[in-house]
Amino acid sequence: MITGRFAPTPSGRLHLGNLLCALLAYLSARSQGGRFLLRIEDLDVPRCPRHLSLQCIEDLEWLGFTWDEEPLWQSQRSDIYQRYLDELQKQGLIYPCFCTRAQLMASQAPNLGDTQVVYNRACVNLSDEDIARLSQTRSPALRLRVPDAEVAFTDGLFGLQKENLARDCGDFILRRSDGLFGYQLAVVVDDALCGVNEVVRGRDILSATPRQIYLLDKLGFPLPKYVHIPLLMDAQGRRLAKRDKDLDLSALSRRFTPADILGMLACSAGIIEENRPMTLEQLIPLFSWEKVKRSDIRLPEMEAPHA
Ligand code: GLU
Repeated sequence: MITGRFAPTPSGRLHLGNLLCALLAYLSARSQGGRFLLRIEDLDVPRCPRHLSLQCIEDLEWLGFTWDEEPLWQSQRSDIYQRYLDELQKQGLIYPCFCTRAQLMASQAPNLGDTQVVYNRACVNLSDEDIARLSQTRSPALRLRVPDAEVAFTDGLFGLQKENLARDCGDFILRRSDGLFGYQLAVVVDDALCGVNEVVRGRDILSATPRQIYLLDKLGFPLPKYVHIPLLMDAQGRRLAKRDKDLDLSALSRRFTPADILGMLACSAGIIEENRPMTLEQLIPLFSWEKVKRSDIRLPEMEAPHA
């Protein structure tokens, strides 16, 4: 039995990019007679206040999504993440890192874009005395030691993917210095404990997947099937961003019905040929991954039929 899920980070109102992901994850699971779960990824509580999470649930309900269990809230699961962190600690895979942001930026080894830096392992061999001394002034982040080894997997849409963890990613953070758990650990633990075996999400997370596969392996969890979906572009071919307020649900729900929005997304993705209003129930039998575009998905110009 397939178990799929949608796992939004409610740091703002849901926008069309999130909804495309929810739609494809849902249609894939339901068209295979599978289960579907909702997980609120509000680990970063200050950025994801409760009212936005509740709004996100309400928006999904308005669109007609259903899920088979109570939604999971990551902000309430710290004890569980800690247990798995302890497990990795027992395996000798975790070490404290006292580097400040400035130190990390200054040491910048190969740059993987604007924010991601391969960690130079400055803290990997700290002695117990060093750790005790440094702990007096600063609480450390906890990093996972990764091997100089390639992790490969086959993505449902993008095919074979490979990454050398030490070279391309580096030892990554599982718990931040402020005590918040890292996204990689929480995702892996939650998906595994909920029996999720089909992960459908945006292509922007494709590059994090090898790290998650490594964690799954170290924690003895099975590997789900991964399908990363193309990015959604506006009618002018620009990538959607949270700042595009006219494409978030507060604006869209004033101009369109749920069926307008779902039909438009399904048509953009390639599931139906003509842009017409469709409910989730109507879309389920029409879905197949063969139809879904591999290239960036472009939205049509959006005129408001119900303005
Ligand atoms: N919470 C992530 C996001 O909203 C998605 C995580 C996942 O699907 O694994 O982008």
